[in-house]
Amino acid sequence: ATYSKDDIRQIAKDENVQFLRLMFTDLFGTIKNVEVPINQLEELLDNKIMFDGSSIDGFVRIEESDMYLYPDLSTWMIFPWNADNKGKIARVICEVHTTDGKPFAGDPRNNLIRVLGDMRKAGFTDFNIGPEPEFFLFKLDDKGNPTTDLNDKGSYFDMAPMDLGENCRRDIVLTLEEMGFEVEAAHHEEAPGQHEIDFKYADALAAADNIQTFKLVVKSVARKHGLYATFMPKPLYGINGSGMHINMSLFHDQGNAFYDKDGERELSQDAYFFLGGLLKHARSYTAICNPIVNSYKRLVPGYEAPVYVAWSSSNRSPLVRVPNSRGVGTRLELRSVDPAANPYLAIAAVLEAGLDGLKNKIKPEDAVDRNIYRMDTDERKENHITNLPDSLHNALKDLAADDVIRNAMGDRLCKNFIEAKNLEYDSYRTQVSEWERDTYLPLY
Ligand code: ADP
Ligand code: MG
Ligand code: MG
Ligand code: MG
Ligand code: MG
Repeated sequence: ATYSKDDIRQIAKDENVQFLRLMFTDLFGTIKNVEVPINQLEELLDNKIMFDGSSIDGFVRIEESDMYLYPDLSTWMIFPWNADNKGKIARVICEVHTTDGKPFAGDPRNNLIRVLGDMRKAGFTDFNIGPEPEFFLFKLDDKGNPTTDLNDKGSYFDMAPMDLGENCRRDIVLTLEEMGFEVEAAHHEEAPGQHEIDFKYADALAAADNIQTFKLVVKSVARKHGLYATFMPKPLYGINGSGMHINMSLFHDQGNAFYDKDGERELSQDAYFFLGGLLKHARSYTAICNPIVNSYKRLVPGYEAPVYVAWSSSNRSPLVRVPNSRGVGTRLELRSVDPAANPYLAIAAVLEAGLDGLKNKIKPEDAVDRNIYRMDTDERKENHITNLPDSLHNALKDLAADDVIRNAMGDRLCKNFIEAKNLEYDSYRTQVSEWERDTYLPLY
């Protein structure tokens, strides 16, 4: 919604808002909060709220630690679950600015705004994003810590009436709707304890904001039901992991730029070039879309997650699918992304990949309408099908080698990201796991 400063003043008064939660997102996708009492509202509206940036992981050096929060008034929202007699809490998503008033380049949201500028220069008005986030609901133990105990045995579209998870999910949907989300679908997923909630697509910036808000709501409501919601990509070995498919389309003044009723498959030339870019850079944005060690436990054969770089309009095994819908709903669906991704960075990366396809007229390989998992290595080679990186380590090498995707993050974010993620990988690599002891101790 669009709000003027006066609208905000009025709503805050009418709704008895007592606290303002100022939100932004760090490099790793974690939501950061600065909470101030309502008496700071005027300061906030004047872009005068300061915070210490050095307290945030990988954000700034000590010498430049003073940062300002500029509220994006269109993101103003009142949390429905704090409506007790202490007054309500409103949140607003902020841009981080430096003391000289410039957008801080280390803020992933500012970076997405920058990349959306590239899109406008290329002649488009909107990059629309419809995410399909999946998550697990686990039981909490007596002390309130998460376990990996599932609360149900359901699977896809199951309707077990006494299911704790169903009640919790319904409550999540109602809360989201109270907060202005248009929920299109909510269903049980393939794995026990796994759920998906889809909300209506929005322009890139709003969509990324929505994903962050969504995660917050899901986790908060789950706790009230004695459950722990996790967006960890592969919490349990042997069953499906959680993805966050990203549906995407470019719009220009005449509507959906991917639709052409006379084009092959009713797709425009631009749709094919964008697809060409998405496939060409797939290996290099994987580190951004699948940013943690655990992400690569999901990207394995046999669990509905993509492993190969290919596209199809008819089956669901490849990296990119073109869903059947045409007209305004014409879109590409990227199926590798998982919910651990920083949505601002992931969306910026896939947009730059697609724009590079348009700029350099990159033609995609032919569609692969067979099950890739049934092909052998030679057949895949004949069809020019490559693999996604199989570890965070290899994904980071591909990212470091691709100027287009590096540019999608900007120098500062990219350098910090690669450094931090290499450390994360090293810390994992040098651990000795239960699997190793189980396998080797009896043998050696
Ligand atoms: P799937 O068939 O893969 O399960 P869903 O129906 O769960 O797909 O989700 C489709 C998503 O695509 C929704 O979030 C929807 O709003 C979104 N969507 C629809 N049209 C567009 C479009 N033109 N651009 C981007 N996203 C879109
Ligand atoms: Mg879906
Ligand atoms: Mg669907
Ligand atoms: Mg799903
Ligand atoms: Mg999907």
